Amino acid sequence: MSTTWHILGAGSLGTLWATRLARAGLPVRLILRDQARLQAYQAAGGLTLVEQGQASFHAIPGETLDNPEPITRLLVACKAYDAQQAVSQLAARLTPDAELVLLQNGLGSQDAVAAQVPQARCIYASSTEGAFRDGDWRVVFAGHGYTWLGDASHPTAPFWLDDLSASGIPHEWSADILTRLWRKLALNCAINPLTVLHDCRNGGLLQHHCEVAMLCVELSELLERCGQPAAAENLQQEVERVIQATAANYSSMYQDVASRRRTEISYLLGHACDVAARHQLHLPNLSRLRRLLVEHLQQRGLPSD
Ligand code: NAP
Repeated sequence: MSTTWHILGAGSLGTLWATRLARAGLPVRLILRDQARLQAYQAAGGLTLVEQGQASFHAIPGETLDNPEPITRLLVACKAYDAQQAVSQLAARLTPDAELVLLQNGLGSQDAVAAQVPQARCIYASSTEGAFRDGDWRVVFAGHGYTWLGDASHPTAPFWLDDLSASGIPHEWSADILTRLWRKLALNCAINPLTVLHDCRNGGLLQHHCEVAMLCVELSELLERCGQPAAAENLQQEVERVIQATAANYSSMYQDVASRRRTEISYLLGHACDVAARHQLHLPNLSRLRRLLVEHLQQRGLPSD
């Protein structure tokens, strides 16, 4: 009998994982924030995944956080700013051998979650898959990609990666997951805030080459200082390559601000600045960028944390 996959957060990535696991015949349960969300979900009857224009419907059972059933495997698919609080509400349900997969972007939330549940194994993930919600309980699979999973304190891969293979979820076990997460965070810091401040697509940053280059120098210094030299290698070249390759796209932070959604700034640029301060590293361009972004968010009445 397979272990049940509990999915915390039925948003974009939660739905993308839940529907593929369920489609492979694996047991899946969705954990929703409260009774009102559960009732709304039950009225819809299930989740819809839209792939290449084709919609498929999956009647996955749902429950609330306070359901008493024990949890052995939990996929945490909330935003970084919700993860710690949501997991703390489930801590009492976790079995002694529980394992959590943390899908959050950026850094900071994973350690905060792990500290809440010291008895559990926390596996950090970094994903290049893309999905968005085009309605309640309905998600569009927008960009095929890869998910790297790893555990900095325990190099052995879990046996249940077979479930991901069976579900067609492209993945790889990574011995250096923190390096991957830091590299992604650095790319994000060099691109996303500037697209918000300059009100442009990623390609618009070609007009701001010097600003991007100065940020890359400071980000590389930070990565070296916090023991991630591999994440600093050729950072500027990769940032420029990403800007070229995604020139027509709006960054995720740009889209969040445009849609008046809360950003994950504290776990991206905010985390970079906080770690620099902890290392007594003076990074004036990065600090200025954070200050300008916070001001920009506050002027629009959006949360700046
Ligand atoms: P999302 O669509 O906003 O989904 C988050 C879900 O978490 C929502 O359904 C929300 O519930 C739920 N949630 C929040 N607090 C909860 C609680 N206490 N109990 C139960 N559910 C709770 O977010 P997402 O785009 O999937 O992103 C999740 C993470 O993956 C983020 O860190 C993001 O940066 C990262 N990521 C996303 C993508 C992507 O393409 N979407 C790609 C790579 C990485 P409600 O529906 O009730 O609000």
